[in-house]
Amino acid sequence: MSTTNPSPPTALTIAGSDSGGGAGLQADLRTFFAHRVHGMTAVTAVTVQNSVGVQGFTEIAPEVVADQIRSVATDIGVGAAKTGMLASTGIITAVAGVLDEVSIGRDARSPFVVDPVAASMHGDPLLREEALEAIRSELIPRATLVTPNLDEVRLLAGITVTDTDGQREAAKALASMGARYVLVKGGHLRGATDCLDLLYDGTEFTELVGPRYDTEHTHGGGDTLASAITAELARGSTVPDAVAHGKRFIERCVADSYPLGSGIGPVSPLWRVRES
Ligand code: PLP
Repeated sequence: MSTTNPSPPTALTIAGSDSGGGAGLQADLRTFFAHRVHGMTAVTAVTVQNSVGVQGFTEIAPEVVADQIRSVATDIGVGAAKTGMLASTGIITAVAGVLDEVSIGRDARSPFVVDPVAASMHGDPLLREEALEAIRSELIPRATLVTPNLDEVRLLAGITVTDTDGQREAAKALASMGARYVLVKGGHLRGATDCLDLLYDGTEFTELVGPRYDTEHTHGGGDTLASAITAELARGSTVPDAVAHGKRFIERCVADSYPLGSGIGPVSPLWRVRES
């Protein structure tokens, strides 16, 4: 029996494995699947992780990370790509080099979303401190979109955000590092009753406001938002449309989150599978 199904859109995540299955490339693949997008992986690190934290991780050799990207890009093709945990300067430099080779990036054929993951929500480091400079100088200038949370804004731009004006200042600082679009996520703003994310295109700001759900089970939330945006870009959406979609998508995933183990459970895209 043969099939003649058309090939679906494709997306690549350049990210770490979360053995607990809540965040990292496991969350990205789940999210791509929920968008009917074929997901591919360039594994950067293998974390030893459960619901209470990250107990350790092993990095993949930089040339093996680059080879994974080259292999899928030259054969299958990459509709859009995103980064998650990148662990080290060596991996970031190798990724930046191969992206140019296979035409993934802000001025290239395929859009590129940089989620500048620095630590888990438990505070466990996922990036060596000295690698922040490589994120600034090698990845952000290649980004179609960069999606920092407020901790990552502080680390990357040295700005402590306490209100929407601070989010605007941070967005401008990251755009000046070379990103085409910047999404400054306000989810970590203390005391806020809603959740305001700010999109900046270098000229104008768009405020995306949504509800704040009363749950602690938000493990993998950042990864899921960035991969929902990446999936929509792979399907051909513009950045503003993909971001607006991602915001609605992650809200449903947070509302659908569940407890797991004795710690923090993950957000979940299962609602979309149920509805389709
Ligand atoms: N583990 C891995 C491998 C990740 O890539 C990430 C985030 O990107 C995390 C853990 C952290 O997720 P969270 O901040 O939701 O705990």
